[in-house]
Amino acid sequence: MVSQSPLIDRFGRKVTYLRVSVTDRCDLRCVYCMAEDMTFLPKRDLLTLEELDRVCSAFVARGVTRLRLTGGEPLVRKGVMTLVKSLGRHLTSGALKELTLTTNGNLLKTFADALADCGVRRINVSLDTLDPDRFRAVTRWGDISKVLNGIRAAQRAGIRIKLNAVALKGVNEDEIPEMIRFAHGEGMDFTLIETMPMGDVEGDRTDHYLPLSLVRERLAQRFTLQDSDYRTGGPARYVTVAETGGRLGFITPLSHNFCESCNRVRLTCTGTLYLCLGQEDAADLRAPLRASEGDEALHAAIDGAIARKPRGHDFVIDRAQNRPALARHMNVTGG
Ligand code: SAM
Ligand code: SF4
Repeated sequence: MVSQSPLIDRFGRKVTYLRVSVTDRCDLRCVYCMAEDMTFLPKRDLLTLEELDRVCSAFVARGVTRLRLTGGEPLVRKGVMTLVKSLGRHLTSGALKELTLTTNGNLLKTFADALADCGVRRINVSLDTLDPDRFRAVTRWGDISKVLNGIRAAQRAGIRIKLNAVALKGVNEDEIPEMIRFAHGEGMDFTLIETMPMGDVEGDRTDHYLPLSLVRERLAQRFTLQDSDYRTGGPARYVTVAETGGRLGFITPLSHNFCESCNRVRLTCTGTLYLCLGQEDAADLRAPLRASEGDEALHAAIDGAIARKPRGHDFVIDRAQNRPALARHMNVTGG
């Protein structure tokens, strides 16, 4: 008999949110995320679309109600819509409350209608600047008009969008007020992300580190930031901007602890389950997934993993060594 019991860890936290990286590949190369000449994983190491569906469905059976597909860039995974469509059955059954996606928006125009048809109602689009030249520089070759067209197509399809921007010192810090006005003017929430020390990329990452406490202080001189108790169970803390009426989120993994309310785990595209974004504790789900057609071994591995979910994270940019504290790349873990 396969276990159907909810996933509750040692600290009483119930795991209801799974973030799944469906590929480590991407059609862009954001400077803070990837090296230009990235070596991607061999295809045989990746979970197949069927395996991704099996593992996601196992989590849904255990009480996961929110599922987010990410990457790499989820929309570059060949056949990804087969997976989205298949996972949509859990929305229809009511087991899943939300199926969402984090995307760079580059291919969104092509997929917007199909995503909406599968029951996707909300997506996060990462966009660090509104300036075409800066966008090209940050992403190494991206064309911002594709992203903007993708956003419009998704909105037309009835999908709500949240814009996410990584705050980068000397890159987009002067543009943040304009981006807030743009996002809120288009009916989108806007969230700022502090740079996280993950993966080896060229350049000195500490060069671009911009504490969001400083950004918030500066924004408070221009806008009225009203505290909000809006929460998504994730690391973002929100305020309402009185002047725009829109919601502004701050994700500050380096300077804050948000672990006590953590309800999430992450699955990499190779089937490794990470129990905490900032810790190396992980469990391999690919071997149990491939060991048999039934899901007993998979559920046992999930139980074993959740029992080891750590209390909290351990981020630090090692300024002396100038090395990221975690060697994992964000595109493998899933941002
Ligand atoms: N390709 C998709 C995208 O860009 O939205 C999904 C994957 S991406 C890894 C997810 C999020 O992680 C993006 O918002 C990206 O800006 C963010 N990210 C990547 N590397 C980061 C880093 N070192 N620090 C903070 N955020 C990072
Ligand atoms: Fe690709 Fe997203 Fe990483 Fe940019 S942040 S390189 S779009 S995976």
